[in-house]
Amino acid sequence: MKQTRRNFIRTGSLTAIAGLSGINTIFGAMNNSASTRKFKNKGLSLRFKPYDLQLKHTFTLAGSSRTTTPVMLTEIMYEGITGYGEASMPPYLGESHETATRFLSSVNLEQFNDPFQLETILSYVDNLAPGNCAAKASVDIALHDLVGKIMGQPWYKIWGYDPAQTPNTSFTIGIDTAEVVKQKVREAPQFKILKVKLGRENDKEMIEAIRSETNVPLCVDVNQGWTDRQMALDMIYWLKEKGIVFVEQPMPKTAIDDMAWLTQHSPLPTIADEALQRLPDVKKVHGVYSGINIKLMKCTGMREAHKMLTLARALDMKVMIGCMTETSCAVSAAAQLSPMVDWADLDGSLLISNDPYKGMEVIDGKVTLIDKPGIGIRTI
Ligand code: MG
Repeated sequence: MKQTRRNFIRTGSLTAIAGLSGINTIFGAMNNSASTRKFKNKGLSLRFKPYDLQLKHTFTLAGSSRTTTPVMLTEIMYEGITGYGEASMPPYLGESHETATRFLSSVNLEQFNDPFQLETILSYVDNLAPGNCAAKASVDIALHDLVGKIMGQPWYKIWGYDPAQTPNTSFTIGIDTAEVVKQKVREAPQFKILKVKLGRENDKEMIEAIRSETNVPLCVDVNQGWTDRQMALDMIYWLKEKGIVFVEQPMPKTAIDDMAWLTQHSPLPTIADEALQRLPDVKKVHGVYSGINIKLMKCTGMREAHKMLTLARALDMKVMIGCMTETSCAVSAAAQLSPMVDWADLDGSLLISNDPYKGMEVIDGKVTLIDKPGIGIRTI
């Protein structure tokens, strides 16, 4: 723990800040009581710390396998109150501890002395450099957490959402041998929907293995793995017979015409994941896919995710909210939006063994929001 405190980096100076007041906030008591407000800040202050998530199981996608995920944990402090944020950076998305350190070191929040000006502050952060979406999300989430704490309300309430409307979350079963897949299904009896990674030679074998263990609804994520649209359509008809409820990113993100054809003919909804990142992409995938998978790490955080959700609804598209392997910090931030989505895939914190936070819980398979201010997390 001393090591992690030493590694916490404050923007601007890049100096370690062990010994400064408020240093205990990330793994200590929340520092947000009225009595701490005597610590007058000139402006907002940001600090960040690299961290590696340890995965419980090797995570296999159509393209790669890994056992750890690098993340950056952030804090924004204002008048003795601390908001928490996170950037999750699976390697295939191109961000890393190094890129996030470089980007976050360029963020100067001390020029802002009103945290409620989310639009101004987060537009400034977004315009500092292109890309860096996860690093930007780590600032966005911390700022939302801070503002919610100042208001004394969780974001699902600020947005006007009913916490009883949260969906069940899917639980992801990675690509593996039939025996291992069966074992993973047996270990997840509390989940009311399972997500299956497809896109290899053994797709039907994977589904048959799971169906030999459970009849719960399944969704599939092909991660761009099918390249022939007629084969994809035949497969989707087969999947419909097996109780699959939607198909995520069946074809390469560049196969726009084939994908529009597939969606038009598909008996199941198709969901864009790799094919979209940010708000302007929602219009681009409209008419090509049935719906979108919003992830905070792709779209720079809660502010833009909320806008994407609203726009997709206006366009009569399906919406799911997803995540990377993340701590309870980023997952709890995403969960604030979940009462308004069709499907949630918020199992990221369940896949790791070293979560430093406690927040949104999955109870009996359902996303369960906590009536605590901000994004509703605490350090453990
Ligand atoms: Mg996906």
